[in-house]
Amino acid sequence: MSSPFDAPRTKAREALGLSVVKELKAKGYEALYVPSRKEALEEVLKLIPEKASVGVPGTVTIRDIGAMEKLAERGCTISHHWNPALSPEGRTQALLDEYNADYFLTSANAVTRDGKIVNVDGNGNRVSAMAWGRGTLIFVIGLNKVAATLDDAIARARTATPPNALRLNGDTPCVKTGYCVDCNSPARACRALLILERPTFGRKSHVIMVGEDLGY
Ligand code: SF4
Repeated sequence: MSSPFDAPRTKAREALGLSVVKELKAKGYEALYVPSRKEALEEVLKLIPEKASVGVPGTVTIRDIGAMEKLAERGCTISHHWNPALSPEGRTQALLDEYNADYFLTSANAVTRDGKIVNVDGNGNRVSAMAWGRGTLIFVIGLNKVAATLDDAIARARTATPPNALRLNGDTPCVKTGYCVDCNSPARACRALLILERPTFGRKSHVIMVGEDLGY
């Protein structure tokens, strides 16, 4: 049901999205803002040609927008390691295939208002591919991940861990508290932090900012 308060809310979200896009462009990203996941998917499909290979790491956003199904329909080869049926060897191969794909399609844990992209990782596959993968990098980021400062972005990145740990039946302290306690648990999921201040040298990097809450 629509409300008279919707239009100003939508306008304010658009203003925030466009502000972040401006900063990202100034840093060398191909960036744009779209209001919804539907348009985000359309933009992803404009960037990735039919039959391309696409690596999709652990990301809820990319699955939220329906990209996996649409890319498969277009004959793309999708590599992803979130398939519980994979053997340990199959999972390792999937991680390598993600890394080596023509396109690395992912989200981010947080982005600052001034365009720094922040990610926390446990295995390091996601952050290493963001920093030095060989394919074109595409981020799809919901406005719920915009943070005012770098410190806020790092804190925001760790809010993604409790639901992810719950999804994996993990045994981290944040599963019980619902927030990060900067633990020393053997199961600690936060082990590598990547702050992209700019796209890395020679890397074609796109960012699609979306005026919806997406992912964790
Ligand atoms: S409690 Fe540990 S695993 Fe959970 S978010 Fe904090 S550092 Fe990461």
